[in-house]
Amino acid sequence: MFELIIEEEFSAAHRLRNYKGKCERLHGHNWKVQVIFEGEETGKDGLLMDFSILRDKVKEVIKILDHNYLNTIPFFKRKNPTSENISYFIFKKLCSIFKNEKVKVKKVTVWENSKQAASYSED
Ligand SMILES: [Zn+2]
Repeated sequence: MFELIIEEEFSAAHRLRNYKGKCERLHGHNWKVQVIFEGEETGKDGLLMDFSILRDKVKEVIKILDHNYLNTIPFFKRKNPTSENISYFIFKKLCSIFKNEKVKVKKVTVWENSKQAASYSED
């Protein structure tokens, strides 16, 4: 298996519901997002998929979150905008974009600061 890794960042505000602690108050983070893609076969050019295509797709999803108040996005009205749920949101959005591609989304990791992160992957 080959893996390709794309990293991007976004800034957004959130507040956590049903939570006691600093994150229950409105505040922002500069989140770092890492997406790991995987695939078995490269093309004749030796590439699994062009990095610029992967980056554009990751940016397309992150654009929904960037400079936004996450609690107002429909998905996060139902689910708390935690790093866990942000990684899930990005994973699912990318899976639907890549569902007919030879490259699959393997794992999405979201850092809310340089010391802590949450990841989502399936099987
Ligand atoms: Zn927070």
